[in-house]
Amino acid sequence: MTEAEVSEKFIPELRELLKNRIVVLPPLIQRLKDIPLLANHYLNLFSRKDGKRTSGLSREATDKLVSYAWPGNIKELENVIQRAAIVSSEAVIIPGDLIFVLPSEKEIHKINLLRNERIRDLLRHPLIPKVFIWVNIFMVAVMAGFTLFGGSRPEGHPLQEFGNNPGMIITWLVWFPLLPISAFLIGRIWCTVCPLAGIGDLFSRIKKFNLPVPGILKRMDFWLVVLSFMFLDYVEEFFGVAEKPWATGMLLVIIIGVSVLFCILYERKTFCRYLCPLAGMLGAYSSMSLFEIRGNKKVCQTQCGQHLCYKGTEQAPGCPMFSYPASISNSTECMMCLNCLKSCDNRGVQINLRPPLQEIWRQSQPVLSLSLFGVILVGLMARHQFGHLTFWLSIEKSWGLIEGFSHTVVYLSFILLAFVPFALSSTLSAAASQEKVSENMAHYGIAFIPLALSGHLSHIAHEFLDEGVYELLQYLVKVYESLAAGVAIGSREVIISPFIHSSIITFLKTMMITGGMAGALIALIMIARRVSVRNVFARILPHLLVLMLFWIGYLFIFTAPTGAAPEPSPPPKARIR
Ligand code: SF4
Ligand code: SF4
Ligand code: SF4
Repeated sequence: MTEAEVSEKFIPELRELLKNRIVVLPPLIQRLKDIPLLANHYLNLFSRKDGKRTSGLSREATDKLVSYAWPGNIKELENVIQRAAIVSSEAVIIPGDLIFVLPSEKEIHKINLLRNERIRDLLRHPLIPKVFIWVNIFMVAVMAGFTLFGGSRPEGHPLQEFGNNPGMIITWLVWFPLLPISAFLIGRIWCTVCPLAGIGDLFSRIKKFNLPVPGILKRMDFWLVVLSFMFLDYVEEFFGVAEKPWATGMLLVIIIGVSVLFCILYERKTFCRYLCPLAGMLGAYSSMSLFEIRGNKKVCQTQCGQHLCYKGTEQAPGCPMFSYPASISNSTECMMCLNCLKSCDNRGVQINLRPPLQEIWRQSQPVLSLSLFGVILVGLMARHQFGHLTFWLSIEKSWGLIEGFSHTVVYLSFILLAFVPFALSSTLSAAASQEKVSENMAHYGIAFIPLALSGHLSHIAHEFLDEGVYELLQYLVKVYESLAAGVAIGSREVIISPFIHSSIITFLKTMMITGGMAGALIALIMIARRVSVRNVFARILPHLLVLMLFWIGYLFIFTAPTGAAPEPSPPPKARIR
């Protein structure tokens, strides 16, 4: 502090006392007792400024503050409390309100696409991404309309058949395969143009109560998203939704209905952040994607006093995911809506092109729920394929298993088959690194996501190349021929003979699974090296063995014959001589 500043700010007695003295003020980390005092001081200041009635810090929030390292010293504390005052929706600040801008890592191999002014202007255009959302809302209305209408027709009606119902074809042959592929390549681009959230937005323009997010949702955070994905996955197979137009339509309507309800009742996009079943899968796969939206940490820490990305402006509402771009540590926290890009006047937002998998091994704040989800996904994706295996179908038939019962048993078994070996390997690895088992799980579980994605893509390849592509082509030919002949679509039969040999599909699946295994292996090694340079081999060996086990299991499940076993031919009739 300069002398002029001292004379301006201090009372005369204190000024006199400090005259000609050098006062050494240790960094914040060495003055833990001061942290709650300073935090409360800033909280009063910013709460008054923002017109909030936050009365103080909860005990858990204070614990979190005093256990942080404060590399940015008192300025960082001021920023953290300012953000907490803005985001807080309860009477006291809770740990979830404390958003730390992570220390800047070297932005290795990242290219900020927004340095190109044309891209920047295009993405800041008011019609982007609105126009795509409208197109998708129209598409989802068509899908829901055809599936519900077709499903309500009497048995034998053409629209009751998968191959004649455009709603079923778009939902299951176009939309569902595109979700994981787009998340892997571009990140949460689906969320950018999502009609489910878009319809919620439309309704919330009529009425929005803006209630604060219920505390339980905040506390459970990503766990709820994981549970909701598992529930959807279970229910979808249990009721055979993908084969029934009526069930498909109802599923769409229910998801849209819940999204609309949450958009009307709660602030921002509470449904997308805390409940959407697709958010878990999209968030997990996006961690491998080539693109990310992040804040420029230097700009956000030093040049920003307004936090418009969070508060919103006339150009765009505040972040729907309750995030600050600079504090985002993984893709589950950002739905790539582009709002912050439009609100921020400081050029604090970046859209980075990055190496695939980088987010996985660079996790500086590993999230246990996301990591366990990555492992459970490995089991769930294997389960999808397992239900079609010839040997399993034969067992089901010969044992006379009831479909719903066998589905439930297989579902739970595959979750355990993935979780138990990983829990064991984490216990051994944690012993080698002398950390808690839960910490070890959080660090290494995320490395299994590439294998889970490879299982998902293999399953899609199997379903699509073995059957789906012919249904799609048949439908297109049917539409063309029916329109040309002026007859109702579905009144003509079109058969396209399979032209993709099963060995090609098996080869593709093997390559994908091996690629997924290689990705997981690289991620494991990189994570182990980042966590510590000591005992790297001992720490990853247990996880490596589990990865090999999963890989062999995947190769077996995804390359084994599928479909019902052919009926044995009847014994030859005895000849009467
Ligand atoms: S989180 Fe779910 S509802 Fe929200 S935008 Fe993404 S897919 Fe749509
Ligand atoms: S993104 Fe922009 S508005 Fe948000 S904190 Fe950074 S500089 Fe501020
Ligand atoms: S506002 Fe920015 S940080 Fe928030 S979800 Fe949208 S793109 Fe991501």
